Amino acid sequence: GNDAVYTICVFLSIFNIELGRFRSILLDVTKAKQKVWACVRCAFENPLASEHCEICTAERPQLTDAQQKELDKDKWTCSMCTFLNPQLEGKCQVCNSQRELTAEEKKVRDQQAECEVCFSTVWKKDMVSQACKHHYCAECWTRYAVAQVDRGMVKSIKCMEPSCQRLLSTGEVEACLKTESAIARYRRYSRIQDANDDPSKMWCMTPDCDNVLTFDGRQSKMQCHKCGQQVCFKCKTKWHAGITCEEIRMREEQKFDRIIMNDPRYRRCGRCNI
Ligand SMILES: [Zn+2]
Ligand SMILES: [Zn+2]
Ligand SMILES: [Zn+2]
Ligand SMILES: [Zn+2]
Ligand SMILES: [Zn+2]
Ligand SMILES: [Zn+2]
Ligand SMILES: [Zn+2]
Repeated sequence: GNDAVYTICVFLSIFNIELGRFRSILLDVTKAKQKVWACVRCAFENPLASEHCEICTAERPQLTDAQQKELDKDKWTCSMCTFLNPQLEGKCQVCNSQRELTAEEKKVRDQQAECEVCFSTVWKKDMVSQACKHHYCAECWTRYAVAQVDRGMVKSIKCMEPSCQRLLSTGEVEACLKTESAIARYRRYSRIQDANDDPSKMWCMTPDCDNVLTFDGRQSKMQCHKCGQQVCFKCKTKWHAGITCEEIRMREEQKFDRIIMNDPRYRRCGRCNI
């Protein structure tokens, strides 16, 4: 009972949508018909503005009222001699004076600007201006800021204007980054770099833990209260049980040497053996 009624309802609503679509297609066809004239000799459908058939050069027949209206709609009136010129003409066909922008076109032009990074024309409201007044399109700022963060350059993101050299503020960078995930990455890298720059602080070094430890001035061995990771504050590494800081430093250097020796980009100098 109910199911059948429901099915019919769904069917009817789909039918209605299809009917609406069909109607709008019909309307489009009629509208399109007004924008062309059919040649009586070869049946080719020519643009209204063409006075001769583009295929057989036969003359354009008398336009219908709707066609004439359609044709005049796109024409522009010369402000000097009042001649009605075809849409695509940049100069008046009678007095040769330059076409003036319509009020509508001027309004549009005034609302647009060109981004000097990507050279696209964008709405002024989509241009982003920083505190130094340098402005580029929002997309370029986002692309730029995300690229900087991906390179780990979170502490020195400058204005995009090469001559500016001003560092963007945290707020400016975050506004550029836009997405939550990019902002989260930016904050995380910033925290870690801040901690590394500060002798009294260090990151616990667990990849998914953001905790920053503060040296309590006593033992160099500390434990992250969030993830439990043990660290050595003296050498800012994970805790090295049973090995002195000096030894761990030597090991790191040896490891580094091995990496370099196996790397074809580095070669041993034949004279001094380095
Ligand atoms: Zn023709
Ligand atoms: Zn004119
Ligand atoms: Zn741009
Ligand atoms: Zn700037
Ligand atoms: Zn931790
Ligand atoms: Zn150590
Ligand atoms: Zn050498």
